[in-house]
Amino acid sequence: MSALPFLPFARPVIDDAMVAAVGETLLSRWIASGPQVAAFEKALSDYVAGRPVRSFTSATGAMEVALQLLGIGAGDEVITPAQSFFASANVIERVGARVVFVDVEPATRNVDLAAASAAVTPRTKALLPVHYNAPLDPQALAAFRARHGVRIVEDAALAIGSRAGGRPVGATGDLVSFSFHPNKNMTTIEGGALVVNDAREAAAVEKLRFHGIARLPDGTRDVEMAGGKYNLSDVSARLGLAQLARLDEWCAARGRLAMHYFACLEGDELLAPERLPPRTNPGHSWNMFTVLLPLDRIALTRRHFIDAMQREGIGVGLSYEAIHLTSHYRSRGWREGQFPVSERIGRETVTLPLFPEMTPGDVERVCETARRVLRSRPA
Ligand SMILES: *Cc1c(COP(=O)(O)O)cnc(C)c1O
Repeated sequence: MSALPFLPFARPVIDDAMVAAVGETLLSRWIASGPQVAAFEKALSDYVAGRPVRSFTSATGAMEVALQLLGIGAGDEVITPAQSFFASANVIERVGARVVFVDVEPATRNVDLAAASAAVTPRTKALLPVHYNAPLDPQALAAFRARHGVRIVEDAALAIGSRAGGRPVGATGDLVSFSFHPNKNMTTIEGGALVVNDAREAAAVEKLRFHGIARLPDGTRDVEMAGGKYNLSDVSARLGLAQLARLDEWCAARGRLAMHYFACLEGDELLAPERLPPRTNPGHSWNMFTVLLPLDRIALTRRHFIDAMQREGIGVGLSYEAIHLTSHYRSRGWREGQFPVSERIGRETVTLPLFPEMTPGDVERVCETARRVLRSRPA
């Protein structure tokens, strides 16, 4: 057991000002969706160059509604990477469409757009790419959309605060969703948001988000579609407002800590650069620092590594398993060997601690411990 404090792999910043702001909202007694949600959506919209934004109880809910907004359902196909969090694929099935997996690129872990192009069929309605270990290229996405005539739902759950082509992720593109889960770059406890193109889409999203309700002139309500219930609370939105104000500062801190990881791991033959995220990575917000373990060169399994780090007081995450190899997607016919890069990442990846309040000394502790554990035998 380590005498040092436990270092989790992710931890949100929560300060006294945020606690006070949330307390004020609670004491106002207006705690479900209301003025704070409106203010939060306005602030998010300002952050993405004035595009309309609507908040949700999760990014998963936001992406599900995005697909419903596009009218995607039974008989349609949506292309998405096999290496992401499960939600990226699940939302496609939840609206009744078929998931078409493609592989990712090894370094960025972003979707292989050539493979995505090859997977387009007459049934393809959308591409759902993920901002993973680097921001997606907005020009490449726009070219894909123009070439294939499909819509694009960017899963930017990990990427609020990233910049691409000099502009914030969300300021460009088609539909873009963010997550505010505590492990992401900013948090509303649970929460998410969807960036849309215009007021018509925003109005449709509001209905899909809240029971399909439209208000009639006589004061009664109509239901225009069987909408869901994904509206954020004012308590969460007030936290989100306070968090958003500090997002850029935190992403800068993440970037500095990531560069310190590269410096500390430099020259380690077990963690060569091809096992690390891209070091030159303009605009990346560094939500995670992922590492591929050299499992064929060490005495440990990944499970041993994670447990040994835990015993040393260091939390290690696992982002992510290959989605097509989970039971549900196997039952749809997906198999080993179809997406070698995603599968290798799924086998070897671990996520080292990275959050804004870490110190350079914490990074050194993680690297020193990881190097030692990698060279150890199973306990
Ligand atoms: C976290 C995450 C999600 C899900 O976000 P929620 O807000 O928890 O629904 C989706 N996609 C990716 C890539 C994620 O990392």
